[in-house]
Amino acid sequence: MKTDFLVIGSGLSGLYFALNASKYGKCLVITKGGISESNTKYAQGGIAAVFDKKDSFESHIKDTLKAGAELCNKKNVKIMVENAPHEIEKLVSYGIEFDKSNGKFELGMEGAHNSRRILHNKDATGAEIENKLVKAVKNNKNISVMENIILLRLAVENKICYGALFLDAASNSIFDVKSKCTVLATGGIGQVYKYTTNPEIATGDGITASFEAGAEIENMEFVQFHPTALNTDSGVKFLISEALRGEGAYVVNSAGERFIKQDLKELAPRDILAREIFNDMKKSQVFLDISHRDADFIRSRFPNIYKTCLEFNFDITQDKIPITPAAHFLCGGIKTDSYGRTTIKNLFAVGECACTGVHGANRLASNSLLECLVFSARAAEKAKSYSNNKIPFNNQNYKKFKIKKISMNEEKELIELQNKIKWIMWEKAGIIRSPNELKLALREIAELEKEIKKSYKNMIHKLIIKTKNMIIVSKLIVLASFKRKKSVGCFYLE
Ligand SMILES: Cc1cc2nc3c(=O)[nH]c(=O)nc-3n(C[C@H](O)[C@H](O)[C@H](O)COP(=O)(O)OP(=O)(O)OC[C@H]3O[C@@H](n4cnc5c(N)ncnc54)[C@H](O)[C@@H]3O)c2cc1C
Repeated sequence: MKTDFLVIGSGLSGLYFALNASKYGKCLVITKGGISESNTKYAQGGIAAVFDKKDSFESHIKDTLKAGAELCNKKNVKIMVENAPHEIEKLVSYGIEFDKSNGKFELGMEGAHNSRRILHNKDATGAEIENKLVKAVKNNKNISVMENIILLRLAVENKICYGALFLDAASNSIFDVKSKCTVLATGGIGQVYKYTTNPEIATGDGITASFEAGAEIENMEFVQFHPTALNTDSGVKFLISEALRGEGAYVVNSAGERFIKQDLKELAPRDILAREIFNDMKKSQVFLDISHRDADFIRSRFPNIYKTCLEFNFDITQDKIPITPAAHFLCGGIKTDSYGRTTIKNLFAVGECACTGVHGANRLASNSLLECLVFSARAAEKAKSYSNNKIPFNNQNYKKFKIKKISMNEEKELIELQNKIKWIMWEKAGIIRSPNELKLALREIAELEKEIKKSYKNMIHKLIIKTKNMIIVSKLIVLASFKRKKSVGCFYLE
């Protein structure tokens, strides 16, 4: 199979790249699940940009650098902030609606922002963006989409990318795509942790593939944990927005006592709150309690959270909500320049899998959708210059891979392995890290790696790929954590 631009991933960054690049050539978007399954779909709060007359680019830049503990790439932060209004106007031209009052964007306020600058669509901004972009992509004759296809590895020789190899999960067959340039838009890594707000797709596949191909990866130690996710038996933890705490919700232990020591109590920064809750959870379950507020107010202010909690039998107007901190966002990833170019020729990375450096050591709320938007548009402009290239003739040798049929026992074994990784990462390389625990984590992950190599070397099945990717991403996080000797941003060393 051949295409001009091969795009892997169909969240905001993949779809927006394709829409922009479709002016310059044929795009093929390949995605692991259904087209809209992505972190993007679950984004609640919104997207940050300067639209208020009282706000300024300088102020947004300053807030971003402060949140990132001054470890941000300053040039890229400036680019992101200054391009935000223009790219948002472009988004609106695809039919995306942001809430308005008196004909102007209704700008929300979020933690660590010094001005109102969050554009939102109620509390489901990501779904609005994803759904409208999917629609635009489906109506675009220069873009084709393949769903339920898994990236296996990149076709890279001598640091030049010629396309990629894929597994068609439905027919259980391998095929390759040759392209003038390849774009990784594969999202985050939350699924390597026991508790996460990220959906099943977030296993860092693009990061693994580019690492294996020799690309530079950076800032993997900076994993942001959200302090309040609904703690139920389901794998993915539904995010309970900080707006609840903003409206007076208490964080309490099982005896109903408030225990947050930090001066700002429930309004303390995310990472501090996450650590205090994580520590208290060693004793017993922790809860969020807003039941002292008026029931009608709760239902009208938080309709989505009210409805979702009710599905799990928690009526938040009366009941305490069991919560846990959860892995939420990766600030690092595949190193790129300000056009999304990686250290491998013809290979771009955009969105959460990329590290443009704009988040530094910690992300400012609502800056991640913005990073996807601005840098995927810039990558598409750069990709224009590849459109006159010849599609490479490069035969991939994939005979060494054997498609594996997995027995019930093997399936159980692989899922157990994945659960072990999640526990190791949660307990030893999560919210609070220490050199000793990291050492143990590395040893335990190495054991699991040995196990999978021994049983499944060169064998291909979606569960094997997922497990292998989770192992590599976990190792990258642990190894990067070793190198950082002091707590900074969302990285906390005991
Ligand atoms: C619950 C939640 C709330 C959030 N709220 C906000 C918010 O309010 N504001 C904000 O700015 N950010 C928010 N974020 C973060 C933001 O949503 C993400 O950083 C952003 O959407 C990432 O977009 P992306 O396009 O890079 O990746 P994604 O949207 O995650 O898309 C990744 C795509 O890659 C595909 N893929 C992955 N692996 C493979 C593979 N091996 N082969 C083929 N395809 C693959 C996936 O199927 C998916 O289509 C939130 C995140 C979560 C989880």
